[in-house]
Amino acid sequence: MGTAYCINEIFVKPERKRLQDSEVSEELARYEAARDKVSIELHALQTKVEQQVGKDEAAIFATHQAILRDAAFTNKIRKWIVDDRCSAPAALQRLLEEYTVLFSKANDSFLRERLADVRDVVVRISSHLSDMLHSDMPPIEGSLILVADELLPSQAVNLGNIDVSGIITQRGSQTSHAAIIARSRGVPAISGVRGILKQVRTGDTVVVDGTAGVVEINPDAEVLSAYLKLQREFTDLRGALAENRDQPAITADQVPLSIMANINSVRDAQTASSMGAVGVGLYRTEYLYLTHASVPDEDEQFQTYVEVIQASPGQTVTIRTLDIGGDKTIPYLGHMQQEANPFMGWRSIRLSFEHPEFFNTQIRAILRAAGACPDADVKVMFPMITTLEEMRRVRLMVRKAAAQLEKRGATYRRVPLGMMLEVPAAAVCIDTIMSEADFVSIGSNDLVQYLMAADRDNPKVSHLCQPLSPAVISVLAQIIAKCNRAKKPVTLCGEMAGQPRAFVLLLGMGLRYFSTSPAFIPVLKKLASSITVKDAERVLRRVQELKTTNQVKRYMKQQLQELAPGFNVMETV
Ligand code: PEP
Ligand code: MG
Repeated sequence: MGTAYCINEIFVKPERKRLQDSEVSEELARYEAARDKVSIELHALQTKVEQQVGKDEAAIFATHQAILRDAAFTNKIRKWIVDDRCSAPAALQRLLEEYTVLFSKANDSFLRERLADVRDVVVRISSHLSDMLHSDMPPIEGSLILVADELLPSQAVNLGNIDVSGIITQRGSQTSHAAIIARSRGVPAISGVRGILKQVRTGDTVVVDGTAGVVEINPDAEVLSAYLKLQREFTDLRGALAENRDQPAITADQVPLSIMANINSVRDAQTASSMGAVGVGLYRTEYLYLTHASVPDEDEQFQTYVEVIQASPGQTVTIRTLDIGGDKTIPYLGHMQQEANPFMGWRSIRLSFEHPEFFNTQIRAILRAAGACPDADVKVMFPMITTLEEMRRVRLMVRKAAAQLEKRGATYRRVPLGMMLEVPAAAVCIDTIMSEADFVSIGSNDLVQYLMAADRDNPKVSHLCQPLSPAVISVLAQIIAKCNRAKKPVTLCGEMAGQPRAFVLLLGMGLRYFSTSPAFIPVLKKLASSITVKDAERVLRRVQELKTTNQVKRYMKQQLQELAPGFNVMETV
């Protein structure tokens, strides 16, 4: 809850008055001076963020410097000032308009996110031109709800300095830099709220219910007090749970569980430790690539992996190789062409196979990092494995990478190789495929979307993309039973692992290894200690008789109320 601060206009619309001939050189100088100031500002910001947050998060400012220094960018501005007698702010806006048209034609999410970066740079230069102090601090006291069309990456990074209690954006996606950074800050955010800027004004009282995906504007006293109660319950529970973070994860009938964290960066690894994770069950390496302007070389990757391993709880980390494609694209991998069905196309391990040199480099960096940390428990896993042949091919490539290191005389270590189970075909043939894998990690985010044929990022089909649907529950129960029967270690690292209702069902299915966002870990530990495996098995048996997702949700809500009162408040829709 807080006071709305609307970022309505990215910058004040500049006057389109023509310059006098005598004003041209002065205007050019004004532009250059603003540009120099921005360069200094970006450099300072990069250093600050690198020290306070991490190298990965700071890399975005290097990208902004590159845009600032881009010859095409500056030449256009200069040309319009000189030839068309545009003022510098007007030229900047013209450039932004031109790029917006160009980028939106590309219909590519990576390019759209780069547009946010260009806009960020333009805003910075414009604010210096208009003599407005570029302030990161909005002129409002108390906690803020930021309402924006989209959140620029630099604004998201700066959130650490302001008391922001919620973010609402009209646009943006889960994969934009801003969303990744906001999530790692633990700020509740709702995106895709079309038209919100027409309804909210700066100064309004706003409630952001990130759990339900609901925004309340100037709620009446009754609604406000209901939310205040909910907020109190939530913070009390979170506070109480945080005190339990050093407790082991164990059920009421003494069955030990392993609750690990999903991370994207070194900073997240530190958070995982502070939230009481026993290890990292999923380290998404793509973030390292997404924040680099070109391929990070073997040494750079090695350094980062060592840092992550050392910062991770118990130095236990499962590193996932690059999972790019779908909605995340990296131009330097030639992944710019349009695909009709990107999620079913050239993504993830499929893309890695097409770039064997690049893939080998990543594997070598991981094996060397494991070698440099002899006491660490390092594993590597491969995303989106669909067939047995793919798993065999992966093993072969790891052997090759190890042979290259051997030849080089480098220090390295062989590590267990796992498969991510995210494709229904692999679920059907799990008995065969897992013979080539040392462990299995269920990526339920993707498995659910593929099983239900419902895009995980498309709100129009979110009623289908449901982890608590009878179909998903049936498939998960089969996978877990098969892995357990074969004594193959199995983890689930999708978002559902952190949701209390799903957690109870997974426990009932026999799952003992969970990996989730660090913030959920204390909740899961407390929940585990409140129930027995027998309870969970009984609840699962009953759920398996239910016919619809809504029935499952209703029944689980009621069961949770009985088994562990108060936990429904932690549930998302
Ligand atoms: C998943 O698909 O469940 C998963 C953990 O991977 P990601 O969310 O990165 O696709
Ligand atoms: Mg996945």
